[in-house]
Amino acid sequence: MKRFLFTVLTALALPSLAGAAALEQLPGETVLASIPAPIPAIPARQSARPLVCVDPGHPNTFNDGFAPVNGTNETRINWQVALRLESVLKAKGFDVLLTRHAEREFVENKDRARICNNGAVLAVHLHCESTPGTGFALYYPDRQGVYDYKNDPENGFKGPSELVRTDSRSLATVLANSMGGTLEGALKNRGVYGDSRTAVGSSQGALTFSIFSNIPTVTIEMVVLTNKKDAAFIKAEAGQQQMAQAIAAGIVSYTAR
Ligand SMILES: [Zn+2]
Repeated sequence: MKRFLFTVLTALALPSLAGAAALEQLPGETVLASIPAPIPAIPARQSARPLVCVDPGHPNTFNDGFAPVNGTNETRINWQVALRLESVLKAKGFDVLLTRHAEREFVENKDRARICNNGAVLAVHLHCESTPGTGFALYYPDRQGVYDYKNDPENGFKGPSELVRTDSRSLATVLANSMGGTLEGALKNRGVYGDSRTAVGSSQGALTFSIFSNIPTVTIEMVVLTNKKDAAFIKAEAGQQQMAQAIAAGIVSYTAR
């Protein structure tokens, strides 16, 4: 039994494909079937710098984010701002974990949370809205949610914890203040809301990557991409840089408390 456990643990520590192959060769299908699918392997950290998880939203099962909007698309904008935010945060003394490594890399929302849980002190999920109105808004998990995806073996998973919810609310408030200052005159501050105000959050109780999060987590709807003025701002390099600086300033404030 000891030897079996050791083999399983060794296999889990391997990069995902090698791990999956090794697991399939072991006896005991019922035990193996209960092991969740491995998330991408992340090297052990050597750095003392705080690690921030930056999640450029989409593509995932429910929305690839590729629909053309005002000469761009949401997946592209999220990716471009994420790269700028990574660079600004590194210059400010942070290490950065991105949940995807290419503009169109597909990652499920629950896996985005699990990647961020792997050593990061907080997570920001970058998105753009397609609703009436203009400006940026922030969302945090205001109640426990229940993952509702019948085709997923983790259907029914509950989270996040009360501590994560409290800390996420603080992070959202600090970020909104910082962004409001840095982006004043450029983008309207639409405020801070609970996940339960979103379409997915109203049915699940929280957004999927909030449900699976073990760390403070905030969704930033950076602009209303269907608004022409907002789209022009966030398509420009200067606007993207300003957005990255606004978010980074909030992260600096939050982690310095
Ligand atoms: Zn989105």
